[in-house]
Amino acid sequence: LANLSEYDKISGMRIKLLGSSAGGGFPQWNCSCTNCRSLRKGELVGKPRSQSQVALSSDSKSWILLNASPDLRSQIESNSELQPSTTLEQTRHTPITSVILTNADLDHVLGLLLMRESQPIHVYATKSVRKILIEDNSMFKMLDQKQGQVTWTDLASEKSFEISGLVCTPYSIDAKYPIYVGSERAKELSPTEAVQALVIEDPKTKKRMAYLPGIAALDEDEMRNLNGGQGRTAREMGHIPMSGPKGSIELLSTLGPKLKKVFTHINNTNPVLNENGPEFKRVHDAGLTLGHDGMVFDL
Ligand SMILES: [Zn+2]
Repeated sequence: LANLSEYDKISGMRIKLLGSSAGGGFPQWNCSCTNCRSLRKGELVGKPRSQSQVALSSDSKSWILLNASPDLRSQIESNSELQPSTTLEQTRHTPITSVILTNADLDHVLGLLLMRESQPIHVYATKSVRKILIEDNSMFKMLDQKQGQVTWTDLASEKSFEISGLVCTPYSIDAKYPIYVGSERAKELSPTEAVQALVIEDPKTKKRMAYLPGIAALDEDEMRNLNGGQGRTAREMGHIPMSGPKGSIELLSTLGPKLKKVFTHINNTNPVLNENGPEFKRVHDAGLTLGHDGMVFDL
């Protein structure tokens, strides 16, 4: 962070939602809930969604992925910015330079296995998340077939680092590891390395985005973090619903009125996906945005 002037050439940060659904996507393969059924029939006023994926760039040439979705292949094919350059001589290329993992959830890491084609990639994850993938799940060794294929960098809560001209700060927000890790193994892992929220700042414009996947709760300390205040870890709680008192709609609508707040990772059964329904209207009326695949923000 010492030489911010180094990054003076950067003009802004582009954020693209490549996928906006929770694990399973929308519609989900084995689901015939009202939403999935009416979407398949073409009767829903609403959008199909691939599984949650965010990409961001400070120059619109090289891209950082926030997590790696199981739908990454089709997301790359739907977003030309993320496809191999056609002007370079080599046939193998990707504008994707790095992946920041917020946790080890399957719908956040399976996409890494799609990127195993000896393509050099830089993956940022907490030590515990890296151990779960590399030491416990032998399939992920495919990422380490060749020296220099995947470079791992440890993430630590509240330790800022520079990435492609941006500054990223992780904050530990939940101590819960995925079910597949098992309770015995989870005991050996650090509780602060399970789930990170990411605050990413463009040092030139001072514009900042926060990514809070699978957040269990938002409290005043966390809100302060998002507003650039002192960092503290969140208490461990169950998931918060969107509606109701202390639901995410109420909490987010009171957080920094000038902030743009976007819902992503939306479950296929959520009534908010019906854009003609009262839940969608409530989100809109609270000044919040329902994210959708392909949504772009420039900061
Ligand atoms: Zn469904």
